[in-house]
Amino acid sequence: MEYRVVSIVRDHARERGGAPAVSGDGRTVTYAGLHERSSRAARGLLAAGLGPGSRVGYVGKNAPEFFDLLFGAAKIGAVAAPVNWRLTAGEIAAIVADSGAAVTLLDAEFAGLAPALPGLVLITGAAYEEWLDRHPADDPGFVGEPDDVVVQLYTSGTTGVPKGVQLTNTNFAVGERMARRWRLDASSVSLVPMPLFHIGGTGWALAGLYAGCRQVLVRDIDPPALVETFERERITNAFIVPAVLQFMCQVPGAAERDYSALRAITYGASPITSEALRRALETFRAPLFQLYGMTETTGAIVQLEPEDHDPEGPRRHLMRSAGRPYDWVELRIVDPVTGADRAPGEPGELLVRSSQNTPGYWNRPAETDGLFAGGGWLRTGDAGHIDAEGYLFLTDRIKDMIVTGGENVYPIEVEEVLAAHPGIADVAVIGVPDERWGETVKAVVVPRPGASPAEEEILSYARERLAGFKRPRSVDFVEALPRNPSGKILKKDLRAPYWEGLGRTIA
Ligand code: ATP
Ligand code: MG
Repeated sequence: MEYRVVSIVRDHARERGGAPAVSGDGRTVTYAGLHERSSRAARGLLAAGLGPGSRVGYVGKNAPEFFDLLFGAAKIGAVAAPVNWRLTAGEIAAIVADSGAAVTLLDAEFAGLAPALPGLVLITGAAYEEWLDRHPADDPGFVGEPDDVVVQLYTSGTTGVPKGVQLTNTNFAVGERMARRWRLDASSVSLVPMPLFHIGGTGWALAGLYAGCRQVLVRDIDPPALVETFERERITNAFIVPAVLQFMCQVPGAAERDYSALRAITYGASPITSEALRRALETFRAPLFQLYGMTETTGAIVQLEPEDHDPEGPRRHLMRSAGRPYDWVELRIVDPVTGADRAPGEPGELLVRSSQNTPGYWNRPAETDGLFAGGGWLRTGDAGHIDAEGYLFLTDRIKDMIVTGGENVYPIEVEEVLAAHPGIADVAVIGVPDERWGETVKAVVVPRPGASPAEEEILSYARERLAGFKRPRSVDFVEALPRNPSGKILKKDLRAPYWEGLGRTIA
């Protein structure tokens, strides 16, 4: 029989009940404890009138209570829908309402949001513990079907409004194989710094729970404290986003710490520079894995192995690759306009087909239609190429591609050239409206401290190094680029002031 997410807690409670499952906020819950707490939560949700298909909200930082709720919901066929607590109160309330959650567990740190949320709101701490204790610890025993939705995660909203992605038992059924690919086993101590409202948090934690190991939940990202945690908790595995990895490497003395327990660091969810990778290898002296994926593919579908992280070797170009797809994942590159397949090495849009593909967005039939290209192929919205050996090289989001005079410009190529300019600390390249060419290329530049490069100097620097249609026509100077929690540059925000009231070919 195909595996169910809910079986994770039932199986481990039986086989290794005394083993630690989740640590956070100074507490550790064992697998038996998680089974008991989630059964009480399940009974509480039933008593509140919830059942199969109901949504249960979670607004909070990474804390053990989230897993009571996830497995508690699964034990009655309901769906856990965690929400990004970094959004504004209005945005959070809108997402909870969108999810249709009738019960929401709210982190005590955000207790002030309670009046804005619909339905029953439980606040972590004494009130929540009392609620759990009021309900019996006998498992309602729901098993359900492979295609039942178990988790609903919202996309990051990098390119538009966050969309609820429905993920099923089948989507997570590769969890055991995934854990093996990430070198997680029952003896691992796995760090979970990515937020649980993101697939990089929940997906990573579920893989560790599949493996039967202990998850060390991180409530707030503080690079010096993270470095400390690696040593103190003898962390064996971790999933860290590039921006945080970079900050950790910059912590004074980070390279002198004891990482002898570490088996591998896994990173991904946004692009990383070769320079950041080199520093991470020097700092942690541990194997590195890169993951590429999206919420809609239940996270990772492509992986770059440690042996492909060799900055000095003959295959060092692979460090710019995201890796190769898992055995159960098929990839294709197609022309973003005609949909025709591209030859190896030619750029286009990445399509994916695998058991990890979501059945669709919650309550968004038009967006779900747009997500699929037919035949089970999911449009990633990412541009790139695949080489003859099957390595995926990502360039940009299709939405960030600039169409100028009928030519396609991939901003990353222009950004790489400009990033090498000695006066530039950070740069983003966007398309701005142009009457003649449709769009033209603009560079948004953060100057290096103490440097003040002139616009004309940057334009002529680009002129010497880029084909005519790829050259920026104008430069804006800013103090910092807008980024989201995964470190992704919010190009839609950079573009917005120029496109107000105008339609863009690539919306
Ligand atoms: P939205 O869909 O709401 O605009 P989002 O796409 O940022 O937000 P996620 O599902 O969290 O939401 O992120 C998936 C995207 O992250 C991928 O489509 C890709 O653009 C980017 N990404 C993921 N992994 C990598 C990686 N290893 N290298 C580069 N980019 C990556
Ligand atoms: Mg997306």
